[in-house]
Order: sequence, then structure tokens, then C-alpha cells
Amino acid sequence: MTILDSVESTTGPYEDALSQYRASAERLSLEPGVRSVLEHPRREMSVAVPLLRDDGRLEMLTGYRVQHNLARGPGKGGIRYSPLVDLNEVRALAMWMTWKCALLDIPYGGAKGGVTIDPAACTAAELERVTRNFVSGIGPIIGPDTDIPAPDIGTDERTMAWIMDAFSTSAGRSVPGVVTGKPLALGGSQGRVSATAHGVVHVAGLALHHAGLRHRPATAAVHGFGNVGAWTASLLHEKGHSVVAVADRFGAVFNASGLDIPDLRRHVAETGTVLGYREAEPLGCSDDVLSLDVDLLIPASVERVIHDGNVRQVQATVVVEGANGPITTAAGEFLNEAGVVLVPDSLANAGGVVVSYFEWVQAQQGLWWEADEVRGRLDLRMTQAWEQVVSKAAADGTGLRAAATDIAVARVAEACLARGLGH
Ligand code: GLU
Repeated sequence: MTILDSVESTTGPYEDALSQYRASAERLSLEPGVRSVLEHPRREMSVAVPLLRDDGRLEMLTGYRVQHNLARGPGKGGIRYSPLVDLNEVRALAMWMTWKCALLDIPYGGAKGGVTIDPAACTAAELERVTRNFVSGIGPIIGPDTDIPAPDIGTDERTMAWIMDAFSTSAGRSVPGVVTGKPLALGGSQGRVSATAHGVVHVAGLALHHAGLRHRPATAAVHGFGNVGAWTASLLHEKGHSVVAVADRFGAVFNASGLDIPDLRRHVAETGTVLGYREAEPLGCSDDVLSLDVDLLIPASVERVIHDGNVRQVQATVVVEGANGPITTAAGEFLNEAGVVLVPDSLANAGGVVVSYFEWVQAQQGLWWEADEVRGRLDLRMTQAWEQVVSKAAADGTGLRAAATDIAVARVAEACLARGLGH
């Protein structure tokens, strides 16, 4: 049985990743050899990860690192800590990283990792121990020239610092290049923490313009209030747009005249949720933000929040995928046919990995850029990728997802063939 046989019967993000890829391979008329190489993860590792609780109990968890494709450079992609992590999710996220890095033309392949853990139910000491154990498991396949992890859902700068320290301790020397998204004190980049959101808001501006909504501040709804969602809401607010609703996993809040995002973020810092915020009314549930009559909808939480069952309720003119895979393949096609400007994840949320790449570039140069320079270079990259995607979509008569995937898949296929893989 091959990896893919075990996937055919499952539903989930990997099914979306595979169906998007297969449609692209078909449009590009890829040769069977390279088609098959790109369909299969290059390498995957599953590790047992002991979690030593503060009270002395030991729990065994499972962690993964999947390298989907390394033809264009070392593997690159985040590490997710969530109770929902499983191998097929990590496979999907790794494949999407390959396309994202290729689309933004950064010299990396695609990878992803994860541990099946609820970080909210762990102390900092427990998280540190579990991170060090995970690194000892995946250590043999990561490194600055082989595969470079970064933050994702449930992990942050602190996690990256532990990974760097654990890897460096076992190497017997300091290896800062093994991860990106590090704290500034360890060679991180200015602007990395908010980089994904910065890119989301930048392309959202381009997409609103493209949709003819440039003359007034937009109304927006954001689904997800983690790193990407909260920073996206803040940056939209700073730009004068009206963020009327936001949702986290506990629920959603709404204010027709626009939420005071800095004040809401203070509330979240104190209470851990958007619920209970005084200057807003609660909605029935988190997913209620998806059907609001707004100009701009940003799903920035997890995969598959917009699907066959709710896609007909989406009223937004522009939808920007802040998360990876937040819209199923079929639901995305429906939105596209309905005339919604759907900016796909590989483009919309690429700001994080672009600034990860800048972190690596700055370290190579030994020269650290000011925040404005990081932002300026990020905006330029995102604008170039946006223009390439929009013109390909116009030339081919496809939606933006198909155009973005085709550009990326063609670049990776070219690299594979140039290296002699996939003939
Ligand atoms: N986890 C982020 C993503 O999904 C960032 C990955 C990185 O910086 O390597 O794009």
C-alpha cells in the first residue's frame, strides 16, 4: 500500500491539497514521472514524544515532520502544536508550503511538523520539555541546510528559541539557522511576529482594489484570533478599515460601527477570549462571522471552516485565506464561480515565510534591517506575486487559486526535472 492509498478514503485537508495539486498537474499536462514525484511526500518522520508533566506523570504523544519536496532548496515550514494534528494534516500543510515557497520564489522546498498536544493545557515548563523531546526525535532530519522549522499554530518565538537551543546543544555549537521566527535576541528579524498578517492585509488591499472597492474603507470580518487573526484585525484597523466582527474558538463578537481592536486585544490578553468584550454584542457562534454582509472576509483560523455546508451563506466580495486551507476545494470553486475574489492561502499568508527567508538572508549578511525595510521588501514580494497570479488567472480564464497553484507547481516541476528527478 502506498501513502496515497491510505489517503483515498479519508476526508480532510490532505484531500484538498491533493485535489488542488491534481487539477493543476492536469492543466499543466505534467509528465507522469514528475507528476508522481510531486504527489508524494519526499520524506516523513513520525516520532514518539514523551511529555513529562510537572507532577511527574509521563504521557506519550506523537509528533511528525514531513518534507514534501526539496527540489528548490531545504525544507521550510512551521511546527504546529494542536490536539487535531495528525499525519495527513501535516502532509497537506507540507505540500502547501512547497507551493507557497515556489510562488513567492524563495529558495526553499516545503515541509511541516506538528505534535498532537493541547498547548493550552500545558505549563511553560511542560511545553519546554516536550519541545526538547520533539527536537531530539526529528533532529536527524532538520538543520539549516536541510529543513528549517518555524512557528505555526500553538508555537511561537519562545518555542523556536527552545528548538534552537536543543538542536545547538546536541550539535555542540550554536546553530541559529536551524529555525526562523526566533526572538530578536537570538537573531530573529524585525517584523516576523506580525509578518503573516502584514502580508494578508497587503494583498487584501490589492484584492479590494481589484474588486473595485477602493474608494472607501472596507468592512471586514476575521475568523480566528491567534497570531494571524489578531494582527490582521489590528493592521486593518490601523489602515482605517472597519473590522465589524472577529471570532476565536470560544465564540464571536460584533459591532456594526467597527470594533476598537487595540481595546479588544487588551480584553483578550486579560481574559483569553474575545467573548465578554463590553463594546460589542456576542454572535451565536464563531462561524456566524463567515456569513456576515461585509466587503472582506478573512478566515484566519484552521482548515476547512468554509465548506459545502456553509459556503452559500458567504456574502463577502473579497475572501482572503489567512489560514492554510480554510476553504475546501469545492467551496473555493463555488465562491470563484459566484464572482467572489478569493485570494488563496499560498499567496495570502506567505508573508510569514517570506520574512523567515529574510531572517536567513540577514543572518547570512550579518546585517540587520530596520522594521521599515523588512516591511518594504515584504510588500514588494507580495505585490509581485499578486501581479503574476492575477495576470495568469486573466490569461487562462481561471480563478486565483488555480493560477497560483499552476505557477508554483510549474516552478517546482521545472526544478525537479532540471535535477533529473521525475523523468
Ligand atoms: N507556519 C507559517 C506558514 O504556514 C510560516 C512558515 C515559515 O516561516 O517557515 O506559512
